[in-house]
Amino acid sequence: MNQNWHGTLIRHMLLLVTGCLLVGLISGYYGWSLAIGLGLYLGWTLKQLLRLHDWLRQHKPDEAPPDGYGLWGEVFDSIYHLQRRDQRVRGRLQAVIDRVQESTAALKDAVIMLDSDGNLEWWNRAAETLLGLKTPQDSGQPVTNLVRHPRFKEYFEQDNYEEALEIPSPTNDRVRIQLYLTRYGNNEHLMLVRDVTRIHQLEQMRKDFVANVSHELRTPLTVICGYLETLLDNVEEVNPRWSRALQQMQQQGSRMQTLLNDLLLLAKLEATDYPSDNHPVAVQSLLQTIKNDAQALSGERGQHITLEADPTVLLKGSEGELRSAFSNLVFNAVKYTQDKGTIRIRWWADQQGAHLSVQDSGIGIDSKHLPRLTERFYRVDSSRNSNTGGTGLGLAIVKHVLLRHRARLEISSVLGHGSTFTCHFAPPQVSRSEAIAVKD
Ligand code: ADP
Repeated sequence: MNQNWHGTLIRHMLLLVTGCLLVGLISGYYGWSLAIGLGLYLGWTLKQLLRLHDWLRQHKPDEAPPDGYGLWGEVFDSIYHLQRRDQRVRGRLQAVIDRVQESTAALKDAVIMLDSDGNLEWWNRAAETLLGLKTPQDSGQPVTNLVRHPRFKEYFEQDNYEEALEIPSPTNDRVRIQLYLTRYGNNEHLMLVRDVTRIHQLEQMRKDFVANVSHELRTPLTVICGYLETLLDNVEEVNPRWSRALQQMQQQGSRMQTLLNDLLLLAKLEATDYPSDNHPVAVQSLLQTIKNDAQALSGERGQHITLEADPTVLLKGSEGELRSAFSNLVFNAVKYTQDKGTIRIRWWADQQGAHLSVQDSGIGIDSKHLPRLTERFYRVDSSRNSNTGGTGLGLAIVKHVLLRHRARLEISSVLGHGSTFTCHFAPPQVSRSEAIAVKD
C-alpha cells in the first residue's frame, strides 16, 4: 500500500484539468467546463470528508470504516488500523492493571494510593477491613479525615517516613496496625498497612511480665534491705566476720532496688504513647537542680560542671519524665568523665526547636557502639558498669522519654576525647516565656 500519493494526486488533477479542457474544446466554454469540473471534484472531496467525520463520531467499536476511493480510501483504512492498534494496546494495559488490582486485592495487607494532597485515590479490600474505608464514598477524601489518630496526622505531615507507625485500627481498638508510607511519582503517597496485633500482644506480654516481676520483687527486696540496714546500724553487736558481708549485701541490695525502679519506670513509659502531663516545664531551673545534684555526685573529683540555659525556653511535657531523662544524661557524664574533667550542659532554642546538650571531656565511646547504646542493658564495657554502679537502663529511659516528647537523641563521641549527647525537641513542644528570671 506504499503508493506514492503525491504523484497519483497530481496525475488525477492533470487528468481532470485535461478532461475539462477537452470538454471546453468541444463546447467552446473553457472557463465554464474548468469551473464545473473543479467544482464537482471539490464537492466529492467534501462528501468524503463528511463521511469520515460521521464515521469518526458515530461508529461502534468494531465497525469498519466506509468504503472510500483513492486517497480517501487510504485515509479511512489508516485511521481504522490506528484505532485497532490503539484498542489492542489498551486491552493489554487493562489486562495488566486488572492483574495488579486482583493480586493487591488478594493481599492481606492494605495498599492505599494517595494523591499529592493526601486524598484517597485507590485502595484494596484489606484497607476496608483494617482502616474502615468505604468504596466509593471515601474516594477523594483526605486520609487524615478517615484515620483520625493524632500520631497518624503528625506522621503523615512529617517528611521522614523511614520508620513505620504503629497505632490502633480506626475500626477496632483491639486490632493494632502498622503503617508504612512512601512517596512515588509526582509526590503521591503509597501507604501499606499491616495487622500486627499478634506481635503487639506478644510484646505486651513481655512488658507486662517484666513489670509484674519487678513489682513483685520490690516488696521482698525492701524487707531484706530494711533488715540489712537495721543490722548495719547495730554493727557492733554483729560478729565482725559478718560485717563486710553485710555491707556488700546492702550495696548489692540497693543496686537491685535501683534496677527495679528503672525497670518499673521503663514499663510505665512504655504503657502509653504520650506523657501524663503537657504543661510548660521551666527547663532552666530543672537543669539547675540537676546540675547541683551532679556536683554532689561528683564530690571530691574536681570535675568542672557548667550550665548555660535560656530561661525563656519552656518545654511542654512531664517534668518528672524530663527530670529522669536529663539527669541520666548528666549523671552519665559525671560517671564517665575522669577527675578534673569538664561537663558542659546547654539548653537553647532555634528554628528547628529546642535542644539540650550534655558535653563531657570523658572517656568517650567507640563509634561501633553508638547505634546500640540506647538498647536495654547494652554495655560498652561490662566491667566498667559494675564500677560505676550503672543499671544499663539509663539511655533506654532517655530514649523513651524523648519519644514521648517528640524528640530525638543524637550521640557523638570520640574515644578518649569525650562525648556529646544532644536531645532535639520539635518546635510544637517548645513554648516561650519572657517573665522568667535568670538564676544560675
Ligand atoms: P549505665 O547505667 O550503664 O550508665 P546507660 O544506659 O546510661 O547505662 O548507658 C549505657 C552505656 O553507655 C554505659 O554503660 C556507658 O558505657 C555508655 N555511656 C553512657 N554515657 C556515656 C558518657 N557520657 N561517656 C561515655 N560512655 C557513656
